[in-house]
Amino acid sequence: MTSSEEILRRDFGGDIIEPDAEAYAAARGSVFVDGSPAYVLRPNSVDDVRVAVRFAAAAGLPLSVRGGGHAFPGFATNDGGIVIDLGALAEIEIGGPVAGGPVVVGSAVGGSASGGLASGGTASGGSASGGGRLVRVGGGANWGQVTAALAPHGLAISAGDTRNVGVGGLTLSGGIGWKVRKYGLALDNVVAAEIVTADGQVRTASATENPDLFWAIRGGGGNFGIVTAFTFVAHRTTDVHFGRITFPATEAVEVLDGWAAYLREAPVELTSIIMLGNPFAGGPAAPVEVMVAYDGDDPAAAAAAIAPVRALGTVLSDQVERKAYADILVDAMTPPPGIQLVTRSAFVDPKAVSSALPVITDVASAPGTPYFAIRSVGGAVSQVADDATAYAYRQAELMLSTTTLGPAPAIEAAKPVLAAFWDRLDPHMAGAYANFLSTADEKDVAAVYPPATYERLASVKRRYDPENLFARNHNVRPQ
Ligand SMILES: Cc1cc2nc3c(=O)[nH]c(=O)nc-3n(C[C@H](O)[C@H](O)[C@H](O)COP(=O)(O)OP(=O)(O)OC[C@H]3O[C@@H](n4cnc5c(N)ncnc54)[C@H](O)[C@@H]3O)c2cc1C
Repeated sequence: MTSSEEILRRDFGGDIIEPDAEAYAAARGSVFVDGSPAYVLRPNSVDDVRVAVRFAAAAGLPLSVRGGGHAFPGFATNDGGIVIDLGALAEIEIGGPVAGGPVVVGSAVGGSASGGLASGGTASGGSASGGGRLVRVGGGANWGQVTAALAPHGLAISAGDTRNVGVGGLTLSGGIGWKVRKYGLALDNVVAAEIVTADGQVRTASATENPDLFWAIRGGGGNFGIVTAFTFVAHRTTDVHFGRITFPATEAVEVLDGWAAYLREAPVELTSIIMLGNPFAGGPAAPVEVMVAYDGDDPAAAAAAIAPVRALGTVLSDQVERKAYADILVDAMTPPPGIQLVTRSAFVDPKAVSSALPVITDVASAPGTPYFAIRSVGGAVSQVADDATAYAYRQAELMLSTTTLGPAPAIEAAKPVLAAFWDRLDPHMAGAYANFLSTADEKDVAAVYPPATYERLASVKRRYDPENLFARNHNVRPQ
């Protein structure tokens, strides 16, 4: 046994799961990729995370940090290395009220939160004042746990659409969910983070403490250390009006055009996703599905905001209803063994929308189409200054993702079609959204972080992780 391993076994208070342990089979893999790590370490405390990080640095083995385990490239596991699984660090603590007054939009961040839960923080995006509270969320929690803990208090955090997805991964690279146009990205609502860096130190990242690190972790993914707790601004939430409206595939061009034009001006309470080519509903012949989420319980205001969507074409079905916000999040399906999933994404800037949409509808009507999901962004996301955080595509109007799923041979067969489609689409696209990418090669990293963002991230990386310990992500190299 090496001395670093001896220290691990002496000082680590959580579970150490090795290949011969009964718990190993369930602990080894991530949601989309299987793995065979030498150690899965499950810290119970921040001190355990420090011990685990020091062990990983000394051992020189590949290191994966697992939040919710849902990253498409399988960042949350590896072969022969170490997994630090944060699942036990899921405490959720509701703190003081957020200072009244308008949120500081466009600056790095306002307020005075420094990792604690005293009142006074304000987030960089959205209008998160008016009865909001600071909430401290453990770095290994998932959105289902957060939403369930906040719902009885009438609170919510702008998050994703799925319960099992981790707070850590989603937030560190963005966070585009059902409240995004009103309250911004999940990361816009972070006022502080407690983070264990590669040297094993616990640091606070906020507007006033280590602001370079605070900038970098809001968009730079898991590159800079292990976030053991986030402090978010949660806002008051009521019921929402939510559901699916479908239109015939033959009306895709008009529906998509009209939808994009309307979302440019729609009230920020309305967030929407349009989906084409649903493989479970006929692929190219599948109805166009428009998901709407109106963030408010006033039926008249909701109906007025959704009316232009209903008028986009011939409505085949309309399932919009009033629901508790917590009930609109869904449980992710884990793909059955042997089923693979490939996803890719890009942003669409306002000027490129009119040229991008015809390519999308053309491809979606052809055999072998991937499943398209186009998310409306804009709203509060675009109100934050471009350089306030490391999230690089604030001015984009839409975020497009394609998903292809099936057994390995089918995925292989679909690859040329998918590549040809993306070749056509690329001239109209900007960058990529890290959270919807199945790959993490140099091209992907360059798409996620444009040059100025990358350079700034690399300088923060040099300071906090000069040996690139945290590399299982869209990796920013210190050199
Ligand atoms: C079913 C499904 C639905 C989704 N819905 C949405 C959505 O609505 N909106 C959206 O924006 N995205 C969505 N995503 C994408 C999602 O944001 C990414 O898959 C994200 O990476 C998942 O985070 P995780 O913590 O679950 O994953 P993990 O694989 O555990 O982590 C992802 C990355 O973050 C790092 N990381 C995680 N936690 C921490 C931490 N505490 N400290 C430091 N590093 C950490 C990991 O090391 C890894 O590099 C969805 C994904 C799936 C599979």
